[in-house]
Amino acid sequence: MPPRRGYRSRPGRPSPARRNGRASAEAAAPVATAVPPVERDIVIPLALTVRELAERLSTTPIDIVKELLKNSIVANINQTIDYDTAAVVATDLGFNVVEAPIVEVSPQELRGRRYREEEAAHLRERPPVVTVMGHVDHGKTSLLDVIRQTNVTEREAGGITQHIGAYQVEVDQHRITFLDTPGHEAFTAMRARGAMATDIAVIVVAADDGVQPQTVEAIDHARAAGVPIMIAINKIDKPEADPERIKRQLAEQNLLIEEWGGETICVPVSAKTGQGIQDILEQILLVAEIEELKANPNRRAEGVVVEAQLDQQRGPMATLLVHNGTLRLGEVLVAGDTSGRIKAMYDEHNHQIKRADPSSPAKVLGLGTVPQAGDTFSVVADERTARNMIQDRLRERQLQESHVVRPVTLQDLFAQAQSGQVQELNVVLKTDVQGSIDPIRSSLLKLGDETLRVKVLHAAPGSITESDVMLALASRGIVLGFNSRPEPGARRLADMEGVELRAYDVIYTLVEDVEKALKGMLAPTFVDVVEGHAEVRQVFRLGRRGAIAGCAVTEGRVARAAQVRVLRQGKVVADDKVSGLKHFKDDVREMPAGSECGVSLEGFADFQEGDVLEFYRKERAS
Ligand code: GDP
Repeated sequence: MPPRRGYRSRPGRPSPARRNGRASAEAAAPVATAVPPVERDIVIPLALTVRELAERLSTTPIDIVKELLKNSIVANINQTIDYDTAAVVATDLGFNVVEAPIVEVSPQELRGRRYREEEAAHLRERPPVVTVMGHVDHGKTSLLDVIRQTNVTEREAGGITQHIGAYQVEVDQHRITFLDTPGHEAFTAMRARGAMATDIAVIVVAADDGVQPQTVEAIDHARAAGVPIMIAINKIDKPEADPERIKRQLAEQNLLIEEWGGETICVPVSAKTGQGIQDILEQILLVAEIEELKANPNRRAEGVVVEAQLDQQRGPMATLLVHNGTLRLGEVLVAGDTSGRIKAMYDEHNHQIKRADPSSPAKVLGLGTVPQAGDTFSVVADERTARNMIQDRLRERQLQESHVVRPVTLQDLFAQAQSGQVQELNVVLKTDVQGSIDPIRSSLLKLGDETLRVKVLHAAPGSITESDVMLALASRGIVLGFNSRPEPGARRLADMEGVELRAYDVIYTLVEDVEKALKGMLAPTFVDVVEGHAEVRQVFRLGRRGAIAGCAVTEGRVARAAQVRVLRQGKVVADDKVSGLKHFKDDVREMPAGSECGVSLEGFADFQEGDVLEFYRKERAS
């Protein structure tokens, strides 16, 4: 399993300058040439073309080709070279290669809860961002509407309120931001894209209807994200309202309200009469205070795209929610795979604004294309930096097929746990009947040890839905079905995102499989099918770490899309993926027996003449 990528830079990859132990002071020391070389910092992605490297180094592609030749590498202008090779050339041309800054996207960081130390002095309180969730028809939309109507400030009252995906209200001189696409589906879909926009989840339960399946789902989705939960018991104006029953039902979900000695704040409200609305807003501020939500307004803005669409007249429009920093008119930003200079900015009352501070939403014009909801954004120095960042992202994605959140499978669980990547197997459990849940859950919870154990994120009767798959994806978990089949949409989503979905009809087998996975003993569900062999005849070194094996295909066929075992005197010395297959200078998909080709692998380059490359693919056993 490759390391998690996306927003994280290459871990621990030293820059050539540092590898060579060459300090910048030394490099800047006077030399005998007329113009002393000035060291400039340059950031290089995992791979880029010769032309792109030239652009970054402000030189011509021909000069790069010449430099490569000096290092015995023949490359044309459109050829892709790897990080190491590019770094050597850049260093030779007097650049100081620096690693891309590490931007680790933990939920806390995205919510602006973790900061670099040097920022501490700049931190200021910021408004909480709230998502409203709950069962259909329990009054989520009505609640959002009444909050918006009763709390607009005077200045804004004249503006035409628009739905832009988020709005702010003012309560006792404090602001609160509401995301106005209610529901846990949007919340978890955003989380699956690596974005964590919400600080507090308000779960709405209708007093006349009680806790329903989607209420439980919403609670579990909020819990899985580690977001504080508040309860709004709505529709208390109705004669049949029974808040006490709801409090009992919540206790069954392990949500004990304050009144009963628990920690969950619970406020009775009516979206119809407005009763309790002021109270719930004040309670939100209280929770926000406990959470100590802070951000640094004195830095470039970063945050998340809440909503985006193409306006026929004005072009791509996106509502951004600022997590940290201040967003200003005229700045250049990168959002997902697109970028642009902010030409105009509006608030939710359609007023033009010049800046948006932490936790504020802003609708912006000026992006090149429409980003996706859930994409993260950041302000950068200029358009050139933006272009480079996007190229890096696209290329890294191509290379890694990276998802911001990478799913986990039962099959590779143990290996990931060994390498410290997971300590808990997150499970979404769907069963045929309510009665099956408890025995399965308690058997699963008994498994594992202190280093690796099962955590049931959500368990409910019913078929496996897209929402279940999304929750598993966002939490790097798996979905287990007991006598429960996936809905077609859920199966498609799981296949597309690589989320593991397993169906069982015997409890014992389900529990046994999970136990084996925790112990690293799960029998493979894939078998290896050998497709061909090739013998290494000559090794061409590329830069410091790369190499191409010049091979003769001796048997079967060899394919670009295959896995390769490198055999040396009958022993496996590497097991890797093909990263390049060439016939002379051309990239090819496959080559038959009797032909010659150049093979490079993703992680292994230490070929020797006489090595045998065994090309195989994994096939589902059943
Ligand atoms: P959502 O599906 O959760 O967004 O629910 P809606 O906001 O669309 O509300 C569903 C229905 O409940 C609508 O007919 C609302 O008018 C009604 N409703 C919402 N809140 C209240 C309330 O506090 N009291 C009463 N009596 N009806 C409400």
